[in-house]
This record gives sequence, C-alpha cells and structure tokens, in this order.
Amino acid sequence: MNEHSVPQGNASLSSRHVASGIPRHMTVEASQLRTRDGRFVEAQAEVVRYGTAARILRGGGTVFGFTAVGLMTIVVPGVHLVLPWLLPLIGLGLGAYIGRVTMKVGEVRGTCPDCAAEMVIGKSGAVARDEALWLRCPACTLPMELMKDRP
Ligand SMILES: [Zn+2]
Repeated sequence: MNEHSVPQGNASLSSRHVASGIPRHMTVEASQLRTRDGRFVEAQAEVVRYGTAARILRGGGTVFGFTAVGLMTIVVPGVHLVLPWLLPLIGLGLGAYIGRVTMKVGEVRGTCPDCAAEMVIGKSGAVARDEALWLRCPACTLPMELMKDRP
C-alpha cells in the first residue's frame, strides 16, 4: 500500500499514534500460591505489571491531576479555603501509593491443597511493591499468598 497518499497534502501528523509499551490488558501468568505452612500450589493468575516508567507516570499523573483541580477551586467561594490545599495533599498521598503499585491482579485459578477444590478467586487488586497479596480458598477459606516475581 502507498503510505504517501495523504488527502489534501495536509502536513498534520496528529493522527500518527505510537504504540506504548505499557500493558493495557491483563495477561495470564503461571504463578504459585504459598500456604502459611510453606506448601506451594501451581496457579494461573491474570496480572498487569507496571514498570518503573509506568509507575512514575501513573503516580505523577495523579498528583498533577489533583493539584490542577485543587487550583481550579480557588475561584469557587466557600470551598476555596479548603480544597486548593486539600486536593493536592490527597493527590500526593494517592500518587505516592499508586507510584508504588507494581502489579494488578485479576482472576487467580488453582487447586486448593487442603480441600482439593478448583479455585477461581475473583479478587482484583492493586499490589504495591513489597506488599503481599493474600487470597483465600472460596471453599475452605485456606489463606494463600500469591507469589510474585519481583524484578
Ligand atoms: Zn480449599
């Protein structure tokens, strides 16, 4: 195909999108669950992983967004005494947490080592760096920690 057939010769390049390396959808990974007494179970986990650049972008974007909205409330009578400093403060706290989120976990599947139930654990959650994600067998409530590959 001829890529140079731009209609009307318009020099605009705005329609050119570059695919980013940030994953937008969950991928299924072979993972492991560990019980408190140290048994390991094979599991399949839906995850989205955030690299350093993505975490800085997400955390920074949160701080920026809250700060921008906070500054806009300066013109609103009444709330202008509170929100212009409160919103950036909330954004800082939230952004600091979001910036530490290394992965999000969707559905986790595996076989319970205690009751042998086929587990489909629908817990979806953000997992921060150095934070453990504990899941429970839906049948017998055995707690298991999802093993993460930390880069
Ligand atoms: Zn069980």
